[in-house]
Amino acid sequence: MSVTHYALHLRMNHQKYRAAFHEVGHLVMLKSWRPDKSNVAIYYDGLWCGEILPPPNYPHSIDVAKVIVAGVVAETCYEQLNAKEVRRVFESDFRSFGGDWKNYKKNLKATKPERIALSEMLLNEGRYYGDVVEDSGYFPYIHSACMATFQHFGEHKMHLLAKALYLNGKVIL
Ligand SMILES: [Zn+2]
Repeated sequence: MSVTHYALHLRMNHQKYRAAFHEVGHLVMLKSWRPDKSNVAIYYDGLWCGEILPPPNYPHSIDVAKVIVAGVVAETCYEQLNAKEVRRVFESDFRSFGGDWKNYKKNLKATKPERIALSEMLLNEGRYYGDVVEDSGYFPYIHSACMATFQHFGEHKMHLLAKALYLNGKVIL
């Protein structure tokens, strides 16, 4: 029986399905921000990994951070972890999150001025995630934006895409 017949939480224990769902996280987040068509592919390179094709090449911004972090948020969204715990998984397992972790660290450096403006905006709106100028508040803010986008897009649809990606190695959204 294929893993795609398993219950959702069991599917997530399979490296290939987990990689597919991780990539779907990136794809859904990218699509919500840049509505042009995007491809995502997974492949085996010692471990299952994936990429968006063509690779997005946007300058760092808060929106880019959401796309970067969406993979780890998708992978952990069934584990009842809070944002701090997801951040801990991201950092402690940075080798398996390879490019994502490095890109997040680069994004942290590059978006400081943008985060100062964001901090002001959130304060005016009465929303609080911790200090978004610092990593300690920025990550929870990004995490919550990813979760909201996933809920809006629909968990079921994300699994349909992950299933297609698992079976075909490639999907377009
Ligand atoms: Zn990723």
